[in-house]
Amino acid sequence: MAQQIKVIRGMHDILPVDMDAWYQVEDSWRTLAEAYGYRQIRTPIMEKTALFKRSIGEVTDIVEKEMYSFDDLGGDNLSLRPEGTASVVRAGIENGLLVNQQQRLWYSGPMFRRERPQKGRYRQFYQLGAETFGMPGADIEAELIFMASRFWKLLGLGNIELQLNTLGTAETRLKYKDLLVSYLRGHMDELDGDSLRRLESNPLRILDSKNPDMQGLIEAAPQLRDHLDQQSSDHFAELLEILDFNAVAYHINPRLVRGLDYYSHTVFEFVTTSLGAQGTVCAGGRYDSLVEQLGGKPSHAAGFAMGIERLVLMLQDQQKVTTQTETDIYFVMAGANSSMHGQKLAEMLRNELPGIQLVAHSGGGSFKSQMKKADKSGASIALILGETEIQNSTVNIKFLRQDLQQLEIEQSQLVEQIKTLLKTKV
Ligand code: ATP
Ligand code: MG
Repeated sequence: MAQQIKVIRGMHDILPVDMDAWYQVEDSWRTLAEAYGYRQIRTPIMEKTALFKRSIGEVTDIVEKEMYSFDDLGGDNLSLRPEGTASVVRAGIENGLLVNQQQRLWYSGPMFRRERPQKGRYRQFYQLGAETFGMPGADIEAELIFMASRFWKLLGLGNIELQLNTLGTAETRLKYKDLLVSYLRGHMDELDGDSLRRLESNPLRILDSKNPDMQGLIEAAPQLRDHLDQQSSDHFAELLEILDFNAVAYHINPRLVRGLDYYSHTVFEFVTTSLGAQGTVCAGGRYDSLVEQLGGKPSHAAGFAMGIERLVLMLQDQQKVTTQTETDIYFVMAGANSSMHGQKLAEMLRNELPGIQLVAHSGGGSFKSQMKKADKSGASIALILGETEIQNSTVNIKFLRQDLQQLEIEQSQLVEQIKTLLKTKV
């Protein structure tokens, strides 16, 4: 046998057994986003590398070490997208959507980051996201939070907490950066390698360190919240007021800084303790400078992204998956000419009852082996067509999950019978 070629490390096949959960996430999301007036945008999975460098930032984990970048044959340096926002902004500018056009957008699709693979962390993973443009206030941030919260409710998921922080305006952040850097410089011997590297380039990210040895130092660091300018603290206060008014629970986490460069003012995450270390299921915030940075007319912006795999894991762990892929009928066709007649009957049923899931046996085999397949398929009913039934223009109905007598009925009665038997599906 030839040697098998295996899937790329950190990437994975999503198999039929998991599809009910995937459909649940994707279908509920689509319905929800559209109901809030968000419209879908699909961008290519590759972009020029420069797009991500300029938006996410040169000194971020993603750009420094996680992107799949390569020169294509024409000499362009391209990258598989590590996230969705940069592409949506690029496409929005390019297609003139952001100014007074379609300012509420959603997307869904695969993203690529060369991270260390673990449960809930993959090198190809899927995100859903929402992005909004042209809206400066806390009202739109609250809308995004309402939408995400409603999503957990729709999915039936519990144990998800909203964490919030503000990064203030760019000017506030610059001043605070100086404060933080001088504090950290006073404790150089306590900084780990990553933090030393970030001290110059991206000191805020040090606050996000997961290294246990750094926690004391971080706890004692000056907090951005205590150094906000008036505009920044007003903006944040307004958001908190809206959330309180709507009885949305939150926890202010001063260490929430997000890994990407483009955020300002509000940042938020929805976090669960159900997934071990990979606890963030949704992350977002305001990113007012990005549109201009990518060559568009200045435009306010805010959005979020969710990891689908983590939601799927939660649905399965919390046993909230609802079955959608379920064979209703297995059509057994044994004997001469039965497959000709059987397929025709099956197609007739599909015309009349498009909502049912019907597997028509294919590939021949004995009656007994076909019945085994029928049982294994999970169908509740087997339709049986043999030579006798063809002669009599009948079909037999056998109940696979109930202790009921087999029924022989006229083929002309079949649609009505199935309608009665599978009421909820037709
Ligand atoms: P984390 O702190 O878990 O690395 P992040 O801050 O890098 O997350 P974002 O870039 O904000 O995440 O992406 C938003 C969401 O996408 C995350 O909250 C998570 O649910 C999901 N996500 C991010 N990276 C991965 C990955 N490698 N595999 C699976 N899901 C991911
Ligand atoms: Mg990450």
